[in-house]
Amino acid sequence: MTDALFRNFIDGRFDEPSATFDSIDPSTGAPWARMPAASEADVDRAVEAAHRALRSGPWTAMTATARGKLLVKLGDLVAADAGRLAELETRDTGKIIRETRAQIAYVGDYYRYYGGLADKHEGAHVPIDKADLDVTIRREPIGVVAAVVPWNSQLFLSAVKLGPALAAGCTVVLKASEDGPAPLLAFAELVQQAGFPEGTVNILTGFGQDCGCRLTSHPLVSRVAFTGGPSTARAIVRNTAENLAYTTLELGGKSPVVVFADADLDSAANAVVAGIFAATGQSCVAGSRLLVEGSVKDEFLARLKLKAEAIRIGDPQDPATEMGPLATQRQRDWIEKIVAESLAKGGTLITGGTRPGGPGFYYAPTIIDAGDGNLACVREELFGPVLSVLAFDSEAQALALANDTPFGLASGVFTSNLGKAHRMARDIHAGVVWVNTYRAVSPLVPFGGYGHSGLGREGGLDAIRDYTRSKSVWIKTSDEPIPDPFVMR
Ligand code: NAD
Repeated sequence: MTDALFRNFIDGRFDEPSATFDSIDPSTGAPWARMPAASEADVDRAVEAAHRALRSGPWTAMTATARGKLLVKLGDLVAADAGRLAELETRDTGKIIRETRAQIAYVGDYYRYYGGLADKHEGAHVPIDKADLDVTIRREPIGVVAAVVPWNSQLFLSAVKLGPALAAGCTVVLKASEDGPAPLLAFAELVQQAGFPEGTVNILTGFGQDCGCRLTSHPLVSRVAFTGGPSTARAIVRNTAENLAYTTLELGGKSPVVVFADADLDSAANAVVAGIFAATGQSCVAGSRLLVEGSVKDEFLARLKLKAEAIRIGDPQDPATEMGPLATQRQRDWIEKIVAESLAKGGTLITGGTRPGGPGFYYAPTIIDAGDGNLACVREELFGPVLSVLAFDSEAQALALANDTPFGLASGVFTSNLGKAHRMARDIHAGVVWVNTYRAVSPLVPFGGYGHSGLGREGGLDAIRDYTRSKSVWIKTSDEPIPDPFVMR
């Protein structure tokens, strides 16, 4: 059924959409709801509303403390509504309900964290080297923020943008992905309920080419916060040549998980499963390259194969399900193409590589022994449940393989040797190193990538700074006239 109709939220109101498109339930492959396709004119209205809210009206007059209270209220509303939002996300993206429920309840903590930070982000007083001057540094909101998110974990990826942006006093136009936008459009109701002034937060969805492009190149936008794939990131950077917006990029990865022979192998195997099969591998931090010490390779792969084949695949709304479908048919087609190409070029299939029968975009947990490593499945981000395995014989070789990628988002190291753990953590080129664990996040910790995995960091204290700009205020404190006007002071 496609009776459900979602609406864009612009200038404090839910719009009647002038155009819509069908959203597909990935577990059945059938349309289940209609989504508003924002036009360039809709984007203009949203950005203009955000700009008005930034320049005049209640938002500008609000203290940082009051902004913080609104964010805390929003966090409480999200946590209280996590069940409904999770059902929508699961319906629209196929991500399993046991993860969406837990993740969305935790999203509330991200808003609370930035709510608490709003009035603790201070300017400075400079001990200036001129006796008759007093200099302070104010930190002011950077302006209208265009936040663009991909389809996976949209509530979570929005919170790390909206939280610091609103705490800093910015206003935001948030573009949900055209794939699976339901939870973000429903979240807009909570923004309204929390009492944010009109225009402060605008949430819409539409396609990249018109809506996304107009938003990220809009002349009234000063800041772009993007999460998505590297090729879209390049398009966005080109868009921002128009408005010269300060831009941060959270992109993809081909993250290595290094398992040394001295590791707790059962715990490491569970972590590898978490890294690549949780969320059906559709995670930017997916541990998609397993680097395992040669002496334990066979034993470790045997454990992994057993665990992969025991994964319960099924209806994502069933709390017992451990792996749901891929979010789109396009995604499954891409994975099938790369797996076929890799097997044809010498990869050995350990398990998976098939579609389970029935409707929906399901794909089996797949492990490929990649031999000497020169295969597409080792290089390309697949964003699916496909693990490529490479063997190493020394710590130096493990490190070289780990860093043999243009990406650098996450990594995992499994060892019982503390010194080795420290050395690997220091030398791996990635924004995140998990030692003897994997796929842990927190609002308190900065997150972001090296190389083609991105630019800038989200989460943690410093993120709020990225939504401000400094203003230096120079005040002459002496009553003496200005000396020589032809010499710079
Ligand atoms: P995508 O890059 O295709 O789309 C992301 C967003 O960009 C969507 O909202 C889309 O409509 C918009 N967009 C597309 N073209 C645009 C254009 N020309 N101008 C402006 N906006 C445009 O990504 P996806 O397929 O939805 O998501 C998967 C990717 O996201 C993977 O590469 C994954 O690794 C990455 N990701 C990264 C992180 C992180 O934090 N580093 C988190 C989650 C996902």
